Amino acid sequence: MSEVEKIKDCEGMLHPLAIEGMKLFNDGKFFDAHEELEAAWKEETGKIRELYQGILQVSVTYLHITRRNYDGAIKVYGRSIRWLKDWPDVCRGVHVGKFRKDAEIVIQALEKLGAENIGKFNPVLFKPIQWNEKRVWICDKCGSQMHEKNCKVSCPNCGNRFDCSDLNIYFD
Ligand SMILES: [Zn+2]
Repeated sequence: MSEVEKIKDCEGMLHPLAIEGMKLFNDGKFFDAHEELEAAWKEETGKIRELYQGILQVSVTYLHITRRNYDGAIKVYGRSIRWLKDWPDVCRGVHVGKFRKDAEIVIQALEKLGAENIGKFNPVLFKPIQWNEKRVWICDKCGSQMHEKNCKVSCPNCGNRFDCSDLNIYFD
């Protein structure tokens, strides 16, 4: 899929299960993170599911490291790259560029240690995923909180509506 398609798919909201998965990831619960992200991957029909798959595989990579499975970690990380590459640095509020770099640093450190010293891996290198928690749309006409579905944003109070792709900004 083209880069333009990916940029377009970066609009809109994250799947709630993906958010749950990323929270678990940030708590260091890599197995549970994998479960939630897999559920998000199954439920999501859009191309964004590929990003969830990439994050999922990094979770599994980190899980392997905590379980001292060197070959498993290297193998799954290798697979994750194809899912994570080409996404913009920020997609649906997720800082994908930073995430890719963090994972790369983890693997470089792991390779430096080698399989025999995997137990000395410093878990401080497992950096959290950063994302903008929630995008809240406030109606510019009446100040009500707006609803968003598939990038169509509408005001339940006054009927004001727009397409989120018309806006080139992120809401924190
Ligand atoms: Zn309104």
